[in-house]
Amino acid sequence: MKYSSTRGADTDHPKSFCDILLEGLAPDGGLYLPQTYPVLTEGDLAKLRPLSYPDLAFEIMSRFVDDIPREDLRKIVNKTYSKEVFGTNDITPVHTLEKDLHLLKCSNGPTLAFKDIAMQFLGHLFEYVLAKRHAEINILGATSGDTGSAAEYAMKGKKGVRVFMLSPHEKMSPFQCAQMFSLQDKNIFNMSVRGVFDDCQDMVKAVSNDLEFKAKYKIGAVNSINWGRIVAQVVYYFKGYFAVTKSNDEKVSFAVPSGNFGNVLAGHIARMMGLPIKRLIVATNENDVLDEFFKTGKYRPRKTAETRQTSSPSMDISKASNFERFLLDLVWRDPAVVRELMRKVDQEGGFDISHCPYWKRLQAFGFISGASTHADRMRTIRHVWEQYNIEIDTHTADGLRVAEQHRELGVPMVCLETALPAKFEASIVEALGHKPVRPAGYNGIESLPQRFEIMDIDVAAVKAKIAMAVGG
Ligand SMILES: *Cc1c(COP(=O)(O)O)cnc(C)c1O
Repeated sequence: MKYSSTRGADTDHPKSFCDILLEGLAPDGGLYLPQTYPVLTEGDLAKLRPLSYPDLAFEIMSRFVDDIPREDLRKIVNKTYSKEVFGTNDITPVHTLEKDLHLLKCSNGPTLAFKDIAMQFLGHLFEYVLAKRHAEINILGATSGDTGSAAEYAMKGKKGVRVFMLSPHEKMSPFQCAQMFSLQDKNIFNMSVRGVFDDCQDMVKAVSNDLEFKAKYKIGAVNSINWGRIVAQVVYYFKGYFAVTKSNDEKVSFAVPSGNFGNVLAGHIARMMGLPIKRLIVATNENDVLDEFFKTGKYRPRKTAETRQTSSPSMDISKASNFERFLLDLVWRDPAVVRELMRKVDQEGGFDISHCPYWKRLQAFGFISGASTHADRMRTIRHVWEQYNIEIDTHTADGLRVAEQHRELGVPMVCLETALPAKFEASIVEALGHKPVRPAGYNGIESLPQRFEIMDIDVAAVKAKIAMAVGG
């Protein structure tokens, strides 16, 4: 399995999985993608159906990772996907709401959001690859909540890895603050910035743009474009498909609460590999750049000032950073076309494919989209509670609400649960009038001692902090 950029770099000298794992963007500004997808036969699918989650994960991931010895990859996968970490042997169990309507529960990891599924894998993988290469990495990131905590819980205590995480001071929920700041591990550094999320992200960019500093202090990232995360997410589409079907000639649709297009991209890849998926439903909140594209063919990333703060905050994005990977498939894998479309995004603010053959291909892929509002989320959370006696979070509600509008007779609809309601307590109280249940072990985390540093919007201070921690 060889990787090259969506914009064409490295096409003639493709890279291997471990090479791109620690890299961000390709040198031409594109994203790495396998040159072809592994395609599964009917026989392969039949063999995968009865497997446990870790065995399934190994079978799927080993088709993308061919530069780690198989027995090592198996160990990493087994360590990651255990009952101790995810609460059940199923890792992503299915909860059936009614005939042909299911929740795929992806948020039983340590930080109660689906990002744990990929991030926990990445933690073990980083430690393994860094040890092999006698290397270190200092992960610098900005978070508004979910990604930062998932990264910290995955990397805490890992050899060769430090995490420096910037978050907006007093802008995260008390639960999210408690989760991140109560970590006492010496390789985790929380910096609470007197500013908003975009200030944090700008500081990360400023540090990364200092190439000398970046090289000297081995600065890396675990943001949503990391290919290792996408590969790990492909697995639960297979798991969900097998859980709601009896034979491999049945079709299933998936509804996916979407922001940076990482989760639903994994579903698209599962389908390209031969999983019988009928529809992939892209659900957004008021930040509807993706809904607009799938409905009209116009891709128009928003400006920061146009990005709304909503009650499903992990989907508050202005541009979908993984979308470019999907584009390459859409344009029949011609990187020159991707280059031209991305040039239009940069220089003209967007592009429109509604009058091209790509538009037909988009329909053939079977995507559907929809957007919801705060009122829709509240109504959906209430409806699901009254009808099925289960609490869902605001992001999952976005997915379920759009899914409800696109159910087809005889086609199971699997809605991805992307976070537990305990993470977004205030919204649940608003919808239901009572606090959501907290999983065992999370009671009272707000009163644990917290370890973080408050700082101004000051790039030099971030650099100084890193330099001091690394010691050089
Ligand atoms: C990150 C996140 C999303 C969006 O996922 P993408 O891969 O960015 O599309 C949805 N819901 C929750 C709870 C998240 O944390």
